[in-house]
Amino acid sequence: MKAGDITPREAREFIERWPVYREDRDNPLWSDPGALRALQENNLRRQLELVAEFSPFYRKVFRRERVEVEKIRTLEDLERIPVTMKETYLENPLSFLLVIDPPEPLDITYEITYTSGTTTGAPAPFFNSTYDMYNIALQMRRMAEICRMTPEDAVLNLFPYGNLPHVGFHRTVHFASAVGMRLVNAMVGRDAPGFPLHRSMDEALELAERHRASVLAGVGRYERRFLVRGHQTGADLSAVRLIMAFGDAVPEGVRDEMRGLLPTERQEEVFVNNGYMLTECQGPFVECREFGGNHNSAPNLYHIEILDPETLRPLPEGELGMLAVTHLDRRGTVLLRYLVGDMAAVESGTCPHCGRCGQRLVVRMGSTYAVRAEKVIRVGGKLVNPEAVKSQLAGVKGVVEYQLVVEKEDPGNPYSPDRLIIRMSVAGRMRQDLEEEVVAKVREATNITPLIHFVQSPEIYDPTMVLKATRFLDKR
Ligand SMILES: [Zn+2]
Repeated sequence: MKAGDITPREAREFIERWPVYREDRDNPLWSDPGALRALQENNLRRQLELVAEFSPFYRKVFRRERVEVEKIRTLEDLERIPVTMKETYLENPLSFLLVIDPPEPLDITYEITYTSGTTTGAPAPFFNSTYDMYNIALQMRRMAEICRMTPEDAVLNLFPYGNLPHVGFHRTVHFASAVGMRLVNAMVGRDAPGFPLHRSMDEALELAERHRASVLAGVGRYERRFLVRGHQTGADLSAVRLIMAFGDAVPEGVRDEMRGLLPTERQEEVFVNNGYMLTECQGPFVECREFGGNHNSAPNLYHIEILDPETLRPLPEGELGMLAVTHLDRRGTVLLRYLVGDMAAVESGTCPHCGRCGQRLVVRMGSTYAVRAEKVIRVGGKLVNPEAVKSQLAGVKGVVEYQLVVEKEDPGNPYSPDRLIIRMSVAGRMRQDLEEEVVAKVREATNITPLIHFVQSPEIYDPTMVLKATRFLDKR
């Protein structure tokens, strides 16, 4: 059993031990699913009233599309509202800011964060009022509860302190504060000219040692390098017990590698938590156990829909599609049915691991909770993430080189079905044995049974011709 594992009883016992969590009687994650839904729909109706009156963007959309706001009573009724595309938001982010008139004391603009990762143009500002900041602090405390942080922990903030206020760095400050943990901001990143502020990785390691950091928060890729470096230099990281790893998928192999870099006697106690961070929800969704799903820690504030990429109609529970966010209780920037640009799958109801209710993102592709939509391909009606297949194959013993090929069964006929072929070269293993393992792994990642073609390495990777192997080929 790993440190990250949990049962609903253990989750309850943990909360009983810590007054900061025990006294949070209004935590919506612990209400019953019916009560949570009533709360969400109440919030939705109030949010829509505000939007209809004070959102410059949605006022226009509601008029143009003849949306009758008073008829939207339930979460299912959201379908009456058209989806909001990212491009639309980027064109004029200010038009999504509620202009509440007259403003109340908590309606003041308190903080601006920015959406990052946009492929086109400048990052777009996202505004939080004081009302939003207080809600976010509660959201962060409940997030910390899911990960089992305690007031005895010491957090090392390894998010870069960058040119733009990013939710990663700032929410770490908020969750540490809301729980009452010690916090050290490593302020890693690159100096702007004339501002010698940032610390190196070695200086961050020194801080981890000096303050006996028990929780690391940062980008998974950076944390892995941090642990590798700490292992090399012999830094004392023996207090680390929780690694909040954001930014990319952190597959099982990488989690084990991270644990393996820490002192041996503590390894099985280390919980590597791969959260999903999105600006539109102002913080991360997090795991209650490794690969157990990413909990939305504020279902009172955010509702997730999963939409069919072609029809944009809601998909049934558990299916993979486009992730759309609807704000249920915000006063600054408010988005309705906003397409983030990621593909994901969601389950709701009571979590089988920790017993909390509300929505959780679940793993449907390889070991990742969400994938940029443009990285996903369609093979015979199924959505496939080539990256997930690659991460499966990379760990198979005996595979020297490999290549994924998607093609038509009959290349001359555009209507013939698609098929997925794995071309690979092998060393030191029986082909049949390897074939079975690869087919099983790819099926697990994609629900597709691939054909296996054995080839010689140069057919995939000719070092005299190209510098990099072509790992994925779409011949359609
Ligand atoms: Zn759970």
